[in-house]
Amino acid sequence: MASFKPLKGYRALYHPAFNKSTAFTREERDEYGLRGLLPYRVGNQENQLARVLENLRRKSNDIEKFIFLASLHERNERLFYRTVVEHIEEIMPLIYTPTVGQACREFAHIFRRPKGFYITPEDKGNIREMLDNWPRPDTRVIVVTDGQRILGLGDLGANGMGIPIGKLQLYVACAGIVPRQCLPVMLDVGTNNEELLNDPLYLGYPHKRLEGDAYFELVDEFVSAVQDKYPQALIQFEDFLTPNAYGLLSKYKDEILCFNDDIQGTASVSLAGVYAATRGTGVAFRDLRVMFLGAGSAATGIGDLMVTAFEAEGLSNEEARKRLNFVDIHGLLVKSRTDLMSHNVPYAHDRAQLDFVDAIREIKPHVLIGATGAPGTFTEEVIKTMSDVNERPAVFALSNPTSRAECTAEQAYAWSDGRAFFSSGSPFGPVVHEGRTHRPGQGNNAYIFPGIGLGVIASGATRITDEMFMVAARTLANMVSEEDLAAGALYPPLTDIRAVSLAIAVEVAKEAHRAGLAVEAMPDDLEAAIADTMYDPVY
Ligand code: NAD
Repeated sequence: MASFKPLKGYRALYHPAFNKSTAFTREERDEYGLRGLLPYRVGNQENQLARVLENLRRKSNDIEKFIFLASLHERNERLFYRTVVEHIEEIMPLIYTPTVGQACREFAHIFRRPKGFYITPEDKGNIREMLDNWPRPDTRVIVVTDGQRILGLGDLGANGMGIPIGKLQLYVACAGIVPRQCLPVMLDVGTNNEELLNDPLYLGYPHKRLEGDAYFELVDEFVSAVQDKYPQALIQFEDFLTPNAYGLLSKYKDEILCFNDDIQGTASVSLAGVYAATRGTGVAFRDLRVMFLGAGSAATGIGDLMVTAFEAEGLSNEEARKRLNFVDIHGLLVKSRTDLMSHNVPYAHDRAQLDFVDAIREIKPHVLIGATGAPGTFTEEVIKTMSDVNERPAVFALSNPTSRAECTAEQAYAWSDGRAFFSSGSPFGPVVHEGRTHRPGQGNNAYIFPGIGLGVIASGATRITDEMFMVAARTLANMVSEEDLAAGALYPPLTDIRAVSLAIAVEVAKEAHRAGLAVEAMPDDLEAAIADTMYDPVY
């Protein structure tokens, strides 16, 4: 609040960052010219929060709750974030996965007010100039999507804007990034989704997708415009189609401050879960074998980071890669296949083709990770086979939203006789199996990316490295308590997320300094200095 010039009258009430509504005190009402514009009684944020929760819980379905929260965000930013922070387990699934998936599908129909920044092929040549229309000079975190692979839901075109908006809300809520430093961007290059193109209410660029060189030129112009206008801003690439996600990441990751959350954030949060699982299974990390169902951006990203983690434990690159096996829609990745994408090639081993269950039986993985977008692919036979070859199998069903999970938490516990450590991408509630309560972990990228962003801002890091994602994974795994593990959970409760983000930020900032990538000086008390910058929504 301190950095705000006081606003007067209606402007005070309609500015979401300034507005306190009925909580403006009598003195403030006089000072800001609000007398007569508010009901008599002076409230406070606590009773406003109670009112929000009462109204929220009265809504009969999640999309209505999403709309209600989006409106609150537009009206009173601090009250919105206080609600999210203090009720994170209830609210995160409403502002992010799974509800955000439905919100994106229905984006054009539930649209109230524009948020964020839209770029289309018609803007070619003008993007830098257009960025001057964005009213915030101190942008530090940009989340950008082109809407082509939204969660596991496919091409949602401009409707995908729900994702950058939601992710940035998590940066603020989970790591205290200041809201005015956040910029959601939709690179609206069209859509190949006929249903959207035929929808009269669709709001995006109503053409087939821009592809090939023209597409990459537009992305390049956007990236250059950002470098010019906001040279310190971190760009998070989000929900791009896998080949483009890889192409853009390899093009930009050594050139600018950027990362791809589907590849690297997912990798880090999954690695953290695997580290934590080793504490529960007793199998040392360096001895692990891992089986992936799915070999797209999420699964391969996890594989790549695991290789780095195995190498850190003394394995050669080749030994590390041999620990990882992938099955995609066409079967096991083996050398004889001729249909592999370039990111799959390092993981194609010299062995015979096997079906998925036989591969588990033969390879005996300790950890099973699903990132397919194909629900139900962890069948009873799959989980039973994992349980035959392991005392405590670790099962990650990462596909989002909940309806796409490879299996449910209940199935994982039932089919493993309660022995599995289970984690999912979207949340599952606790499950009682034969009288014991299991708490499924959520391998939610929100444990990682907000803390990375906070650490990057604090240190002024100029690049984001694989080591930073590894450090983040280790820090997160170390925050899993014995009590969490005893309940079968591989992640700390979401209610600890601000502490998790702060701890990750501290380690990421240290890593930035160690690697010579930090621009800011190292403060004496790094943790206190970072904590001090975190946005506090309380008034
Ligand atoms: P992608 O399209 O790049 O990859 C999907 C992969 O799954 C491909 O290799 C495909 O061949 C394979 N596949 C599809 N159906 C299959 C089947 N029936 N059997 C075997 N393999 C099959 O997608 P992606 O970006 O890797 O994302 C995949 C899923 O992971 C999505 O649902 C996404 O929501 C989820 N995800 C979760 C997290 C998280 O939980 N933290 C993060 C990122 C992505």
